[in-house]
Amino acid sequence: MRYAEVAVDVVVAHSRTFSYSTPPRFTVEPGQLVWVPFGRRVLQGLVVELVEIPSVPETRDILQPVEPSPLIGPQHLQMGRWISEHYRCSLFTAIAPLLPPGFENHVRSRISVAPGVEITDPKLRPESVVAFGELAQKKAGLLEADFAKLLGSNGGRELARMVDQKLIQRELTMPRPRAAPKYETFLIPSPDSSGTSDSGEPKLPARQDGLLTAIREQRAPYPAALANKEFGSGVGQALFSKGLVAMEWVRADSVTVARPDWPTERRQHTLTTHQAEALSRIQQALDNPESQPRSFLLHGITGSGKTEVYLRAIDLVVRQGRQAIFLVPEISLTPQTLERVNSWFPGRVAVMHSRLTARQQVDQWWDIREGKYDVVVGPRSSLFAPVANLGLIVIDEEHEWTYKQIETHPLYHARDSALELGHLTGSPVVMGSATPDVETYHAAIQGRHTLLELPDRVSAGPDRVSRLAQVQICDMRLELREGNRSIFSRVLAQTLKECVADGHQAILFLNRRGASSIVQCRDCGHVVECRSCSVSLTYHSITSQGNKPELLCHRCNRRSRMPDSCPACRGNHIRQLGAGTQRVVEEVKKLLPGVTVDRLDADTTRAAQDAEDIMARLTSGDTQVLVGTQMVAKGLDIPNVTLVGVVLADIGMYLPDFRAGERAFGLLCQVAGRAGRGEDLGQVIVQTYNPEHYAIQAAAAQDYQALYEYEIDSRRELGNPPFNDQVHLVFQDPNDAQALRQAAETCRARAQRAEAQ
Ligand code: ADP
Ligand code: ZN
Repeated sequence: MRYAEVAVDVVVAHSRTFSYSTPPRFTVEPGQLVWVPFGRRVLQGLVVELVEIPSVPETRDILQPVEPSPLIGPQHLQMGRWISEHYRCSLFTAIAPLLPPGFENHVRSRISVAPGVEITDPKLRPESVVAFGELAQKKAGLLEADFAKLLGSNGGRELARMVDQKLIQRELTMPRPRAAPKYETFLIPSPDSSGTSDSGEPKLPARQDGLLTAIREQRAPYPAALANKEFGSGVGQALFSKGLVAMEWVRADSVTVARPDWPTERRQHTLTTHQAEALSRIQQALDNPESQPRSFLLHGITGSGKTEVYLRAIDLVVRQGRQAIFLVPEISLTPQTLERVNSWFPGRVAVMHSRLTARQQVDQWWDIREGKYDVVVGPRSSLFAPVANLGLIVIDEEHEWTYKQIETHPLYHARDSALELGHLTGSPVVMGSATPDVETYHAAIQGRHTLLELPDRVSAGPDRVSRLAQVQICDMRLELREGNRSIFSRVLAQTLKECVADGHQAILFLNRRGASSIVQCRDCGHVVECRSCSVSLTYHSITSQGNKPELLCHRCNRRSRMPDSCPACRGNHIRQLGAGTQRVVEEVKKLLPGVTVDRLDADTTRAAQDAEDIMARLTSGDTQVLVGTQMVAKGLDIPNVTLVGVVLADIGMYLPDFRAGERAFGLLCQVAGRAGRGEDLGQVIVQTYNPEHYAIQAAAAQDYQALYEYEIDSRRELGNPPFNDQVHLVFQDPNDAQALRQAAETCRARAQRAEAQ
């Protein structure tokens, strides 16, 4: 007898599985989803392996499979194991993203009176007798939870006792997945009776005979639905019962998700030398499974032709009969990329879009699994798509923090997980960025990824290399000193006017993340920091002490009063930086009456369609000025946008996070890359109270190397990643004190262990 090790859908330590025995009436395989008894409950679980010896002496039986065949292949199972171990979550949680959408389900348990039991059982307490009476009235019984309620306090325990005493019985329904694939039934001649000699066959009723003839004459399987229509319902079933026909189930054709308005013409470019070199290195890895390293960092500014390289590499993989996963930071912000992918592989691209209905998501999942698509494009979760024969993973904008899942378990990073999946499947991983994550770049320099550089912008023009936009830093302290209190410097206001007057378009960017902000002196640029941690303090207008503003250190929780004057220069122009995108829109309207202004941020894009609409209006030229948060930084490639204004570069730069400078730099570079994608020279104006900051300096010069060197030195000095790993432990408890105690205890224990080592 073989036993199954099952990852059960319950909160347990990472990688823990439970042993179950398999009853003889069905077989299970690794990767199969099953129902198992767990304590008094029935839960879903995934069979991860079959073993000869169970981990406990007494095992319970698996109740039944949820799906008849395995849902997850061996490589994906291993990936689940890796996620569970690396990110410390239960194995089932780690595997859940690999399961088809909508598989989660709970058993329904009904309670009814056991046969032959009298209501007036003396062993029952009075409330139970009443409840029992009510139950006896109900023919179909009651849902377990409802009956437990009738039993009053401690209903659960009483119910268990009544089950044990066999007064009532429990019936479990294990539902099929809510969104199971749809099947169509076909009738085919039965293999044992398909001979043409009807000598041995009894005479059939006319309609059955008609259907049987039709089925035998038709070369292709005969749809059961058609049989019902033509010959009456039940006729096919009758032939089936007599063994004259067999049935075949084919998954119903799914709705096509590709958009009809997409162009299908593949634009052919002659690759530049750098592109050709990059592609040939990737090709080596594709052709030779032994070639190392198998991961690539494609470093090139926006417009340097990275996407072209991705598409060519995917094309190579597709020609080998394998599939590719193409990860993008956020799907609704990359319509232009999607169009390009689709023009290369028309009808063969699965786009994992949150706008798909539940039904479409399920169909798409099965279609991907059956190999109907060559390319899967989508956000981080697309990494878990059930691609059967994976050949390549592309991660565009690999530095983006949307690749990290920070809200629900499993708390994974799609980039690291992609490297693992690449390793498990032998697929090369191509990561691209204009501003690579400092850690990725460091790994590439160390030789863990092959570094591929695309140093120049490609242009369609004859000179091939178009110029980068001109970046100008504007010192807002000077503006204030010279009496300008507007959120726009004089140069930005002037340039914006000219840009619109010339019929061009502008993007104004304000990286306002969250409601809280830092406190900074408008005169000298000084940022108020915590005295013990030297991280910038965060301004909170409404606090536990009432609504007197106070400053909070997000590292040590120290609170302090909002100062009246700047601790550095004694000036009294000290305040929080708080203007949001909405305010910027108002200011633009005041400055340029009659101009069409649009806004792109989390507030204006509640629905998935909104972002696309806003970007479509910019592309068509309807919008003259677009104001937005970091969402405007991505993907937009509009030749007529000649001006990008960064309203305040300082926000985000002082977040208490060692990656803040790197992120601010990346965003500024990305935003700057939106200007001057066409014939006209682009212009970028960066407003700041802190023009000396290394991230702003490096961004203005669009000098990644300078940023990298500054960062890597400071990380080495402070022992931050990549020189150390950092783990963020969160303790949750309804009771504050309890959570604090646990956190402090863990901290003490860690410190002791560190000392002992
Ligand atoms: P990135 O992904 O680095 O931003 P893209 O691949 O989008 O760069 O290229 C920028 C623009 O240049 C696109 O419009 C693309 O079609 C075009 N392009 C890319 N490679 C070439 C090439 N070799 N010759 C001509 N145009 C190219
Ligand atoms: Zn502090």
